[in-house]
Amino acid sequence: MALEEYKRKRDFQRTPEPPPKVGKGERRRYVIQKHRASRLHYDFRLEMEGVLKSWAVPKGPSLDPADKRLAMQVEDHPVSYFDFEGIIPPGNYGAGTVMVWDVGTWEPEGEAHTTLQKGDLKFRLEGKKLKGSFALVHIRSRRPGSKGNEWLLIKHRDAYVQEGYDIDEYDRSALTGRTMDEIAGDAGSAEWESNRKAASGRSRKDDWLAESIARADAKKRQSKTPTRAKEARVGHPPKSSHAKGTLKKNSPQRKRPTA
Ligand code: MN
Repeated sequence: MALEEYKRKRDFQRTPEPPPKVGKGERRRYVIQKHRASRLHYDFRLEMEGVLKSWAVPKGPSLDPADKRLAMQVEDHPVSYFDFEGIIPPGNYGAGTVMVWDVGTWEPEGEAHTTLQKGDLKFRLEGKKLKGSFALVHIRSRRPGSKGNEWLLIKHRDAYVQEGYDIDEYDRSALTGRTMDEIAGDAGSAEWESNRKAASGRSRKDDWLAESIARADAKKRQSKTPTRAKEARVGHPPKSSHAKGTLKKNSPQRKRPTA
């Protein structure tokens, strides 16, 4: 059932988040929420098939095509999450401050359901902060403990590109104009401050991401040069860099420090 995981993770007596109700309409809205949980991230959500398809983007989206942003697919959210801004109280799943960072509409480039299933969703955004063409591309990741939910969010080249885009320059709610601290209120701010200090030592995390991006790029290049791709397939065992790309289900995995 849709929204089952969303429901399972939450106690709706204790969180102000909306209940797990599947919508009917096929409107194409999107929202990006800035979420100061145990780690700051941005939640990218596309309205589709009666729910919000959702990805958590640690560094947030970018208008610079050179930034390939990791996007972890998470559970579908109800459409009414679209304008949720406020505080998820301590002790709840995702506890912390939520800002509606950007809102707008989206248009698929290609058939949305199929391209989502294929892991290569291309679309245009018409939002308050973001505009233009983007892709969400499912990648094979070597991240320790990977659940196979890693995607990349990439800006396509068009009139809306901003080289060197710095998301921190855009730190106010698209709905209310408030900053995160204003949403959190003074008492909350101190608490989140201490959480942020605890989240450090992330260099190893970026290693696997750089490798995943390099591999995705190599694959893309290969598909653009059919003759070389063919040669590589004939008479050679799978290239080791590719073979390692898929985490075997039962292989031992390095433990990550929990956040
Ligand atoms: Mn989140």
